[in-house]
Amino acid sequence: MHVERFAPSPTGRLHLGHAFSALTAWEAAEATGGIFRLRIEDLDIGRARPEFEDGIFEDLRWLGLRWPEPVMRQSARGAAYQDALARLGAMGLTYPCTCTRADLAAAAGAPQEGAEAGPVYPGTCRPRTGGAATPGKPAAIRLDCALAAERVRSLTFTELGAGPTGETGEIAVNAAALAALGDVVLTRKDAAAAYHLAVVVDDAAEGVTHVTRGEDLFASTPVHRLLQALLGLPAPLYRHHRLIRDAAGRRLAKRADDLSLETLREAGLTPTDIRRAVGLRR
Ligand code: GLU
Repeated sequence: MHVERFAPSPTGRLHLGHAFSALTAWEAAEATGGIFRLRIEDLDIGRARPEFEDGIFEDLRWLGLRWPEPVMRQSARGAAYQDALARLGAMGLTYPCTCTRADLAAAAGAPQEGAEAGPVYPGTCRPRTGGAATPGKPAAIRLDCALAAERVRSLTFTELGAGPTGETGEIAVNAAALAALGDVVLTRKDAAAAYHLAVVVDDAAEGVTHVTRGEDLFASTPVHRLLQALLGLPAPLYRHHRLIRDAAGRRLAKRADDLSLETLREAGLTPTDIRRAVGLRR
């Protein structure tokens, strides 16, 4: 069974870029009689808001999309993330990181141009690999990526789209692709899990066979495949699609000055207009 998912974070109203992603996943599922799932990625408790979650349901229903209920919410999945984390810890592949934001900023120097996910972690706390956090001292948990990569054999992923590199088909996950992300955070000091761990655990739990998402997440796929291999989870197929940009060529973001679907709807646009605006034929 073909299972797609759309996994927005309720940290703002959806815009045309989200519509394109959701519609692309929906159409792929529809073409094969598959399932389209919605998942609410509300791990960022500081920024997630119930009104944005309501907005997600409203905007997607207006576009004509439907999904099985109840939807998965990451805020309710702490036990599953802790279980995965404990398994990676038992393999000796994680370490507690007590670096503060200020430490990271100082180590990184000037911010790198175009670095989507911020600077790569310099590995200050890596000598603690295999160790546990000190009780009473809050720590993030990171994955020792180089060590983890040694535990898995020839990792690849299947790209159904063209991705930002134009490569398609079977793509090798090499050390350079993993090093580009560095030792990713698996859990933060104040949250049950961070994005990379949660998305991998949840895609598997929901039986997702096809991950359709923007090409801004292409660089994250190597570490997702690494985590899947370590945790013995199946590998979905990936389709990284082009990003929707504004007239000035900038990526849309959840900023007030980027037109939300709500604003466009209130201005009288129809779901068909939205499809046309993002370059979908029907
Ligand atoms: N929650 C992520 C976002 O809103 C998407 C994650 C994914 O598709 O893997 O950007």
